[in-house]
Amino acid sequence: MGLQRYKQKRNFSRTPEPAGKVEKRKAVQMFVIQKHDATRLHYDFRLEMDGVLKSWAVPKGIPTTRGDKRLAAHVEDHPLDYGDFEGIIPEGNYGAGTVMVWDTGTWEPREDDPVKALNDGKIKFTLHGKKLEGDWTLVRMRARSEQRGKDEWLLIKSGEDIKPISAKKDDESVLTHRTMKQIARSKREPGNPLAKRAVRRIHSSSGSRRRHGARLSRAAAVWKCANHGKLKDAQSPFAVRLKTAALQSRNTRHSTTARRKTRTSSSR
Ligand code: MN
Repeated sequence: MGLQRYKQKRNFSRTPEPAGKVEKRKAVQMFVIQKHDATRLHYDFRLEMDGVLKSWAVPKGIPTTRGDKRLAAHVEDHPLDYGDFEGIIPEGNYGAGTVMVWDTGTWEPREDDPVKALNDGKIKFTLHGKKLEGDWTLVRMRARSEQRGKDEWLLIKSGEDIKPISAKKDDESVLTHRTMKQIARSKREPGNPLAKRAVRRIHSSSGSRRRHGARLSRAAAVWKCANHGKLKDAQSPFAVRLKTAALQSRNTRHSTTARRKTRTSSSR
């Protein structure tokens, strides 16, 4: 539990990945799947639970046909901030390689107590993402895990079949619409700071803050951004305008007039 193992494995002065912290539990929980071209290509499947992202590495990707099973190695918890991490982990660091936000959205447990379900080694859930919509189940392989000294699970498609993911969709970020190659080429924007700032701006100007009366986490804003499909490209005029607005509002925070002004300039 917690982020000790996550922090132990990384030197945050040498990787653009977020250091992060354990956050308060939210009403709406996010999921994120990151395509990660490390030593071996795999998909990192992450469910928000207890203020962190519970994580599994799935080498063969997400099953779409009912009953199909994929090996999912349970790995260390990641901070919620990791949910919008896209970019390059530099050589010599843990998990060096290209990371793409492959899909993100919200998830719902099918059980009353998902934390207990997870601890018991079987959890059923529904994903509401950009690419994935439907039911899946994670099941711990107890005997195999004990034998091999690893925590190995199966990610199983439950519920109904969904349309297989096309090769084009499989190679497209839901956050920035970039391909793995395009992300890999963008060496000078580790962690894609422009996209992050844009997401933050979307978050702080969104009506949801007023509706829920509380600040949603930045990570929760990611799926919102992705779902609205606004952030086509970190370099797009939209993203750049958001960045400018974010900088403006930072200088004049808590001033209603200024906030109104930046809102107008970002929606123009
Ligand atoms: Mn990984």
